[in-house]
Amino acid sequence: MMSNTGQLTEFDLIARYFSGIDGGVQSSSVALSVGDDCALLSLPADQQLALSIDTLASGRHFPEDANPYQLAQRALAVSVSDLAAMGAKPMAFTLALTMPSVDTNWLDGFSRGLRFAAEQYKIPLIGGDTTQGPLTLTLQVHGSVPAGSVLKRSTAQPGDVICVTGTLGDAAAALAVIEDRLAVDGQQREYLLQRFYTPAARVDIGQALLGIANAAIDISDGLLADLGHIAKASNVAAIINADQLPLSAVISQLVEKPQALTYALTGGDDYELCFTVPQENLAQLKALDQQFSLRITEVGTIVPGCGVQCVDGEGNPMAIDLAGYQHFNHSE
Ligand SMILES: [Mg+2]
Repeated sequence: MMSNTGQLTEFDLIARYFSGIDGGVQSSSVALSVGDDCALLSLPADQQLALSIDTLASGRHFPEDANPYQLAQRALAVSVSDLAAMGAKPMAFTLALTMPSVDTNWLDGFSRGLRFAAEQYKIPLIGGDTTQGPLTLTLQVHGSVPAGSVLKRSTAQPGDVICVTGTLGDAAAALAVIEDRLAVDGQQREYLLQRFYTPAARVDIGQALLGIANAAIDISDGLLADLGHIAKASNVAAIINADQLPLSAVISQLVEKPQALTYALTGGDDYELCFTVPQENLAQLKALDQQFSLRITEVGTIVPGCGVQCVDGEGNPMAIDLAGYQHFNHSE
């Protein structure tokens, strides 16, 4: 409960900034929303509930002076991305917000960003809490997925083709820009910061991959690390062909190939999906590529063994500079 933090009571604050963030949808699964002691969700009998919670702390996961409008969008996208990774459909989310003081300008930007992202992902805000303290955001997302068909990390098979959505490394380059390690022109800056602050959680493609992909994960810590989670959980090895990694035009203009590959392989925060597809489902995957007008790239193969290896165009193993990228504030 927040008290004595300005003229606004917690009740006023919620009413002014967080009521009516309904994702622009009349959700049949939300039986009761903000305003009672609990929210209520209904789930059809053939669906399972998918839950994920993330905390973002100021100075640790985002710069203290981050634009609140963009920060809200990023926070919700990052959380919804975990639903996308499992093929779940967003249902509702809750928010616990800790703030040092009631800053109405900040709250106005934050709530507008949250409303925008909620509508983008059709996910209503159904409850939350506010407290006084260092700026911290905790979001819990709830999604539904057909029972038994969820995409997991542990079900990749030798012979599967490894695929990724979108382009990789943009968010890592954006962090280099934010931390003044990379010089860019205005347009490049705009593109990269937009990729960092408003990543697109791949919810539609995630759901479409049910029945096509064997395993999936969202790329929050970098392709090597996240594909490593799939390899470990599935007891298989992954081989990435570095020449096939999808890079944006901006990254290709800005940095030399080795740096671009380091961003793409070890830079996190892109929130693209990495998934593995058996050969016999590749034709179905190609159809999706057109349906969503989203680039899907084959970047490697699952083989027997363990670990993740990266090879060049001739199939020679490559050493990757794992120290070449670090998350914001080097703390993750
Ligand atoms: Mg994840």
